[in-house]
Amino acid sequence: MDTREHIKSAKRIVVKVGTSTLLYDSGKLNLYRIEQLVRELADLSSQGKEVILVSSGAIGAGVVRMGLAKRPAGVKEKQALAAVGQGMLMHIYDKLFAEYGQVAGQVLLTRDNYVQHKQYNNSRNTLLTMLKMGVVPIINENDAVAVDEVKIGDNDNLSAMVAALVDADVLLILSDIDGVYTSNPAKDPDATLIHEIAEITPQIEQIAGGAGSDMGTGGMSTKIEAAKIATASGVTMCIASGAEKDIIRRIVAGEQMGTVFPPKEAHLKARKSWLAFGKRINGDIVVDEGCVKALKAGSSLLAAGIKHSEGEYNKDDTVRVLTQEYQEIARGVVNFDAGIVQKIKGRKTEEFKALLTEDAPAEVIHRDNMVLMI
Ligand code: GLU
Repeated sequence: MDTREHIKSAKRIVVKVGTSTLLYDSGKLNLYRIEQLVRELADLSSQGKEVILVSSGAIGAGVVRMGLAKRPAGVKEKQALAAVGQGMLMHIYDKLFAEYGQVAGQVLLTRDNYVQHKQYNNSRNTLLTMLKMGVVPIINENDAVAVDEVKIGDNDNLSAMVAALVDADVLLILSDIDGVYTSNPAKDPDATLIHEIAEITPQIEQIAGGAGSDMGTGGMSTKIEAAKIATASGVTMCIASGAEKDIIRRIVAGEQMGTVFPPKEAHLKARKSWLAFGKRINGDIVVDEGCVKALKAGSSLLAAGIKHSEGEYNKDDTVRVLTQEYQEIARGVVNFDAGIVQKIKGRKTEEFKALLTEDAPAEVIHRDNMVLMI
């Protein structure tokens, strides 16, 4: 199905709004826009669609509430402000959703909710139950308590994880830019908007490599990361401008706005995504062409196809599998430490078994622990 048609027929939609969409440049809350956002989401519910909102802005709203001129640099201060701002945001959302006859509920997540299988299932069940009850889940990272090790860090990735968690049809990321451009539109007058990105090539990653605004944490690169997670989980993703009038309604009506990323044929179901996307990436394994073909056909990753390995990962860490052009083709949980992969790369399984212990696994990454990203 055409990607825009797919969006039109979506039943379950995750919408992510960034801090830059919710606040004015001055740092003050853009109440007009927040109201419009809630009205659009409430209207989607009226159309019989299920909506989940992933909202940033806790720290930003905390800054407003405390009358500060800008975000503080300290982690503790940011966490304290998130505690203030999250309550304030929820109060506004709750009030506005109630005006449209809807009930909203807050869910604050951390990376742990995604990495621990039990917590993953619990979070999933809670969200699905809320949807069943007709409640609109409003999600943010639990900034007030999450420390670095358990932090996802940006809500673009968080929203993609949520979309995978609930098997959403569409993830719509609203930002201060109306999509992905061929180059930086602020600097290049010839930059044009790319309407659809079917494959995240190294060139696309390069285009996206800039930083974001002052208030939020995401730039385009975190959105591209999010697109990888979403599309590999069978979710259609769209990046569009949160400043555009009626943007949600227009995108959901199939209008050609923003940049869309068609989903991969659900290589992976929620059961597997917790494993691939919850954890941090600790290294890269570059493989030859034959190996790329074998992985696409559903094989495990064997040492024979490995050209080289980068990073200091350990057994059971998550690594990316890259082509020689550095395109990411898979992600998975590795069976060996980096040092051992260095030693066995390029070797046939029988050959390297002699170098390792008897019970060493035959695969560097087993296909059950791997997600294809292409
Ligand atoms: N969770 C952060 C907040 O609510 C925002 C993270 C982001 O901007 O991506 O302030």
